[in-house]
Amino acid sequence: MNVYSSISSIKGVGPKTAEALEKCCIFNILDLLLYFPRDYEMISASDALPSRNNFGKVIINCKVVKIEKDIKTKTGKVLSTIIFDDGNNEFKGKWFNQPYIKNYFKINKEYTIMGKLQDFRGEVCLTNPALVKNNEKVITEEKIIPKYPLKSGVTNNLIIKLINQVLQEVTIDENLPDLIIDRYKLASLDKAIRVIHKPESTEDLHEATKRLKFQELFTYSLKILMLKDYFNKNKNGIAFKAAEELKLLKERLPYNLTNAQSRVIREILIDEKKECPMNRLVQGDVGSGKTIVALIAIFNVIKNGYQGVLMAPTEILATQHYIEAEKLLMGFGINIKLLCGSTTQKNKEKIKKALKDGEINLIIGTHALIEEDVEFENLGIVVTDEQHRFGVMQRSKLTNKGKNVDTLVMTATPIPRTLSLYLYGDLDVSIIDELPPGRQKIETYYINKSGKDRAYNFALEELKKGRQVYVVCPLVEESEELNLSSVEKLYEELKHKYFEDVSVEILHGKMTPKNKDEIMNRFKRGETKVIISTTVIEVGINVPNATLMIIENSERFGLAQLHQLRGRVGRGKHKSYCILIAEIKNDIIRRRMEIMKSSNDGFFIAEQDLKIRGAGEIFGFRQSGETSLILSDVVQDIELFKAANMEAKRLIESNDEKDIKIKNEILKKIEQSTRFICFN
Ligand code: ADP
Ligand code: MG
Repeated sequence: MNVYSSISSIKGVGPKTAEALEKCCIFNILDLLLYFPRDYEMISASDALPSRNNFGKVIINCKVVKIEKDIKTKTGKVLSTIIFDDGNNEFKGKWFNQPYIKNYFKINKEYTIMGKLQDFRGEVCLTNPALVKNNEKVITEEKIIPKYPLKSGVTNNLIIKLINQVLQEVTIDENLPDLIIDRYKLASLDKAIRVIHKPESTEDLHEATKRLKFQELFTYSLKILMLKDYFNKNKNGIAFKAAEELKLLKERLPYNLTNAQSRVIREILIDEKKECPMNRLVQGDVGSGKTIVALIAIFNVIKNGYQGVLMAPTEILATQHYIEAEKLLMGFGINIKLLCGSTTQKNKEKIKKALKDGEINLIIGTHALIEEDVEFENLGIVVTDEQHRFGVMQRSKLTNKGKNVDTLVMTATPIPRTLSLYLYGDLDVSIIDELPPGRQKIETYYINKSGKDRAYNFALEELKKGRQVYVVCPLVEESEELNLSSVEKLYEELKHKYFEDVSVEILHGKMTPKNKDEIMNRFKRGETKVIISTTVIEVGINVPNATLMIIENSERFGLAQLHQLRGRVGRGKHKSYCILIAEIKNDIIRRRMEIMKSSNDGFFIAEQDLKIRGAGEIFGFRQSGETSLILSDVVQDIELFKAANMEAKRLIESNDEKDIKIKNEILKKIEQSTRFICFN
């Protein structure tokens, strides 16, 4: 057996298991070994309930003292409680909605149970403890159990078993140069892979993860560094000249472009002129004016005789873009159409036909644009707004409707420059780092929960002036154990206390897109005065009359996210405010709130967040699959990223025979993996 043998070569893996594993993208032994746990469960064994400040999972021997009667909670859940005795103290085990569990226990009998120690209204409890079945073999050591990401038909135990089996039979060759291993004191690849699946201690695990992260970041950096070259060699794109009408268009704009906008437009036009396809990311803070930049990029392509497409994540945004495009490009003989999910079937057919026949120059829309039967006569440019809201596959589906088209993607997620350098290397990134003149600073304050009254009274004042208000809170579902605001709960509370006579609506992610759009539209038209929402309120939404945003539980958000949320106000002529209600539990939270208060610059904020790195994920690259990085967190691992990047550069410049071999291997792989890194 070697690492490239198929998984069916493992003893005990039949066709059915193999099929299930393939669903997890495990085809051969190497895939299996690289299938890393997403988390670990630390189980500490103890004879007594650990102290209060030692929360986490525990396994414990104890006797049942009393089985209490089930009670129904306010939210309709069934709460079962058993009182246990560990020989020293009594403590409670609690289960939600699992009333049958208590039937496994009998009074005065001994059990070994495992559960999470939690503070439940001031009492230390085990929540949802499980009965450890194997009662004779009571675990006495600490244990670290890997938790794998799972799909149907694959269990955690199956993966653990298979990996154990495989690790006994294979050794994994080292693939990093010795020099690097020595320099960064890295574990060998073989050891790292063994440990990541079967860690004995947290120190071991730390060392193994470091090695594997380095590997990942090193490979990523190599790819990024070589990619630019690869793109430049593709000469099959379309070279668009700078159209004469550009000047006229700029003259007719209702405002002057900012310097940053002009610079980015210049960069784009240079790309468009080149024969190799454009592949550019435009980053710009909320309100920096990305739309006009996109429209000018598209305008130039259209004037060269090609079609353009602009895709946005929601109907509301697409419609907003459509209206702006109609307004700005009027009188230039450009046929613009809007295609969304709600477009009538008849209209859709008409649009699709006209698009295919080349009668439409610019089509603006939502995911509806990706559908199979949307065809172009001669597509020249694809622009995606709020790029992170689409999957990589969705974006490339659109791009593939043309041949070697230029692509431009836009995002309001500010990626700190230091990070962007490692993340995108020399790839083409344009930054609009300037807001149009005359924008007012959004006055930001943070207050403790106790100041809530003041915040909402202020909201009432704004409403009295005729303004509108956003209230944002973190979660939808009410959580039994955590004291979180939820949209519904908050609605009840606020409606009652402050907004009795105000039209308030709620908005959250579980609603249908149509429903959400309707609610947003009512707010846009001013029929609704207050929106209480999770973070789903659109990044690009423009309601100039909304002047106040109150964010509940602000400490739970990343700064970049807070900044983006805040960007929903301050879009009109009225002075705008953002009030952050936060539980200031520690200095980090206070510092983060201070940063929000003192700065309105998204890039600065992101950079600062990177430095202090409080709780919470800032960018969410991992979830969006934006990069191929699985283990590494580009923010947390920035130092390692730096080192890996430097080594990758060194390798690329090296003429050593071994290094050249590594480089060639990677070049071969680039073709398959470019889609993870390029912006289309
Ligand atoms: P975002 O970058 O968030 O997508 P938009 O493109 O929606 O920003 O622009 C926000 C608002 O600013 C729009 O109303 C737009 O018309 C306006 N705008 C854009 N550029 C300028 C400019 N140079 N001067 C004044 N207003 C501008
Ligand atoms: Mg926008």
